[in-house]
Amino acid sequence: MHRSPIQFCKTCAAPVAYRLPDDGDTRERAICTACHLVHYENPLNVVGTVPVWGDQVLLCKRNIEPRKGKWTLPAGFMELGETTEQGAARETREEAGAEFKVQDLFTVMSVPRVGQVHLYYLAQLSHDRFDPGHETQEARLFSEAEIPWNELAFRTVKETLEHYFADRASGQFKVHAFDIE
Ligand SMILES: [Zn+2]
Repeated sequence: MHRSPIQFCKTCAAPVAYRLPDDGDTRERAICTACHLVHYENPLNVVGTVPVWGDQVLLCKRNIEPRKGKWTLPAGFMELGETTEQGAARETREEAGAEFKVQDLFTVMSVPRVGQVHLYYLAQLSHDRFDPGHETQEARLFSEAEIPWNELAFRTVKETLEHYFADRASGQFKVHAFDIE
């Protein structure tokens, strides 16, 4: 897990110590040394879309770290109070300024190394004009032959695109759930 360890209590700001709670929990948790609050740390959801226009897919060139300058499908961390589908749509609007209709869930990928679960939905673009936000240098459509495979930002994006083109070739789209080590 790459997330930084918790140092201070989120309630009273006293230092925490990582130890086993007294309730039979089998994992060490960040426990406040003053008020004894147990801070649970759990995986985060990353939600996004595969936006399609004819035989082309929309990719965004990242304008922020990590992987600035690399290409990605529009995606980002889910926010509290929204559904996975709403989050995927919001990220697609924010990063690409695209208009689209969200369709079926397409990939579900556990990435335990970074404590994340990534979910991508298929999306049908309404037109081919984009207005990317500050997180994106450029948003453009790629045919399968044009996909910059060696310039993709994340393995989850590469795997999702590979499944998309394989399913399109077979004429049958289905949900792909798998793990990325
Ligand atoms: Zn505390």
